[in-house]
Amino acid sequence: MRKIIIAGNWKMNKTPAEARALAATIAANDKIGCEVVICTPFVDLFAAKEAIAGSKVRLGAQNVHWAESGAFTGEISASMLKEVGVEYVIVGHSERRQYFGETDETVNARAKAALAKGLKVILCVGESLEQRQSGVTEQVITQQIKADLADLTVGNMKNVVIAYEPVWAIGTGLTATPEQAQEVCKLIRDLLSGIFGAETAAETTIQYGGSMNAGNAAQLLSMPDIDGGLIGGASLKPDDFAAIIAAGSAK
Ligand code: PEP
Repeated sequence: MRKIIIAGNWKMNKTPAEARALAATIAANDKIGCEVVICTPFVDLFAAKEAIAGSKVRLGAQNVHWAESGAFTGEISASMLKEVGVEYVIVGHSERRQYFGETDETVNARAKAALAKGLKVILCVGESLEQRQSGVTEQVITQQIKADLADLTVGNMKNVVIAYEPVWAIGTGLTATPEQAQEVCKLIRDLLSGIFGAETAAETTIQYGGSMNAGNAAQLLSMPDIDGGLIGGASLKPDDFAAIIAAGSAK
């Protein structure tokens, strides 16, 4: 009933030529049985789009601005992404929050602009190590979900995927245990139920992200409220990403 989505976040990796080659390798997989997305750097989108044409792989970007156009040097609008063939966009990744001053308010503005232009949003939330160790994970996630999804409608939620990404597990090799990840994904589903109703909560894809790899994907994906993965490092390794796609396809 819920869509299983395996999304690769390439972060700031791969030139256009390299992106074309990697995307073509991922797209050549003839055993894809779930939704697969590659979120490339902006300059790689054209090359990746050509490389995945005719395959089951979907195109994603890593950020979007809230304005339609204007004096926002270095930013990209939803219309620009749409015209290039982008279907998904990541908003609120912890690296954006940590290094580029992203706040719940800007995350919310970006999500609303993307949805208004018909893009699907992968909204990232997650607690830091200090927050987990001081026992405030539930409060942090609750605040992020409420603020990041403020003003969204039930209709909007059909195009929203939530990625639970504990900051301490991203790029560190430390993975949340399946039980830790399940606990927070279930909390997120309960929060969605409170805001948008049980039906929307039951239909929303909730991914886990944070050092998901070929070895741990199946176990994480076996948890009832984990409907996919947002994968950084392992999404750049075709064999590892294929193994994660296989685990997602088997769910
Ligand atoms: C990410 O970038 O969203 C991510 C989860 O990275 P990694 O898989 O490398 O931890």
